[in-house]
Amino acid sequence: MLKLYNTLTRKKEIFKPLKDKKVGLYTCGPTVYWFAHIGNLRTYIFEDILKRVLEYNGFKVKHVMNITDIGHLVSDEDVGEDKILLAAKREKKTPKEVARFYEREFKKDLKLLNIKKPDIWVRATETIQDQIELIKILERKSFTYIIEDGVYFNSSKLKTYGRLWPKKMKILPGKRVKMVPGKRNPTDFALWKFPKKKRKKFLWNSPWGKGFPGWHTECVVMSIKHLGIPFDIHCGGVDHILIHHTNEIAQAEAAFSKILARYWLHGEFLLVEGKKMAKSERNIFTLKDLIDRGFKPLAFRYLCLTAHYRSKLNFTFDSLKSCQNALENLYEKTLEYKTRKKIKTKNFERYKKKFQNAINDDLNTPKALAIVWELVSDQKVKDAEKYQILLDFDKVLGFNLEKLKKPKIPEKIKKLIKIREEYRKKGDFEKADEIREKIKKLGFWIEDTKEGPKIKKL
Ligand code: AMP
Ligand code: ZN
Repeated sequence: MLKLYNTLTRKKEIFKPLKDKKVGLYTCGPTVYWFAHIGNLRTYIFEDILKRVLEYNGFKVKHVMNITDIGHLVSDEDVGEDKILLAAKREKKTPKEVARFYEREFKKDLKLLNIKKPDIWVRATETIQDQIELIKILERKSFTYIIEDGVYFNSSKLKTYGRLWPKKMKILPGKRVKMVPGKRNPTDFALWKFPKKKRKKFLWNSPWGKGFPGWHTECVVMSIKHLGIPFDIHCGGVDHILIHHTNEIAQAEAAFSKILARYWLHGEFLLVEGKKMAKSERNIFTLKDLIDRGFKPLAFRYLCLTAHYRSKLNFTFDSLKSCQNALENLYEKTLEYKTRKKIKTKNFERYKKKFQNAINDDLNTPKALAIVWELVSDQKVKDAEKYQILLDFDKVLGFNLEKLKKPKIPEKIKKLIKIREEYRKKGDFEKADEIREKIKKLGFWIEDTKEGPKIKKL
């Protein structure tokens, strides 16, 4: 039984898809105007865990992710320039060149983090006509009005507007910033924007004149196009609750009188010194920054799993270092256990059940990791079985345990180990230590254990 916290109902609910074991999953993708920062990547890791947990439970997931390559303005509230256009100016490239470059970089990051690819990628610029069609429906149903700035959605016409908001919301989105002149309600939002006079490029024709779509329209169109309405699960970061997802739900409800998706899941922020990691805060790190400092991308994945996705996580290099050590330790153990032998006893089912209970309780990854370490130190479980169980857990954790290979030990090193063992047997530890140093210089490390010397590649 899989339980997920649904922002829409503010409850942990038993997850039941619409059709048998099939799940439609839509995750809001990146705005490709810069490298993803590790805060963004925390959200994609949470969504990857969700997808893997669904698969672990035998569901067949159809996953759609969009690429925002138009329409996301500097402010979420319909003011400021398009982020991609600003980047194009900064980098003296065309918007398309910028967008494609950062899209490729984003996909590389996903691969490095062992995040499974969506089944369908959709770019906003490739669905402009569909977005226009949706706005036409909203116009026919009298949910729109036109002002100098563009075509706007009239939120006061939809009784259910804001159903995703937490109940006790004091500040309405839109009240904090200066309103676009002519906007009737603070929560109204742009469906189609007219360009500022200076802007001549990166515009599309529409029944309302040349312009470009508002950011909140693309996800409605792309998700429905590939998953139908309603579909099962829609995800994103918590910052999407108040505006972006609220406005997605509003458009779908106004146009089709249906809820867009049945379960809405939101990942909490990655923080730096207590503040949200964000480009505007100038406190971001990219995955490359971590790699340049000697960290493995999967150490960051491990770090994300140490916190529940609905808890804030404060990023520090010290905690990343501890996670890298823990992961390396897990790799060593896995290699130690690695064997072709396949044994399955009661332990397999017992541990699987424990693990499944943890992850099925709203994706409790910290508990799942604790079970991993419980297994490692469980004297009653044979190594070969531990290996089988860890590989099973890794379907969810995604640390690539199956790909681990025992390091090839060169003949020269093997000889040195043998000579060192002879010295040790004779009690000549000084000589043995000398050889250990020699081996270290050649890139290997010897550890003496009860079962004999163990060798590790440095
Ligand atoms: P964007 O490319 O700005 O649309 O953001 C991509 C995803 O990252 C969205 O789902 C955001 O909610 C999420 N996000 C942005 N900042 C953070 C952060 N500091 N921690 C976690 N997720 C974030
Ligand atoms: Zn979206």
